[in-house]
Amino acid sequence: MALAKRFEVEINKKWCKGCGLCIGICPKKVLEFDNDVKCGPARPDDCIGCHQCDNICPDFAITVRERV
Ligand code: SF4
Ligand code: SF4
Repeated sequence: MALAKRFEVEINKKWCKGCGLCIGICPKKVLEFDNDVKCGPARPDDCIGCHQCDNICPDFAITVRERV
């Protein structure tokens, strides 16, 4: 049986304006605000790589890539 793919979610904090769109759309609740009210990957191991967060981010602050 093949191992499930795993993903990493990188947030460019300089570009994130804290709008929360990515937090709201993530089906796995991977993202949360951190203390600076910038979003961060609170539960990266739950990411399924659906790319909804990087697609919705108005500021291109999110990169989702497969872990190798
Ligand atoms: S959608 Fe983009 S700008 Fe908005 S909170 Fe998420 S990373 Fe930050
Ligand atoms: S790729 Fe999908 S599961 Fe992963 S953090 Fe973004 S919205 Fe959530």
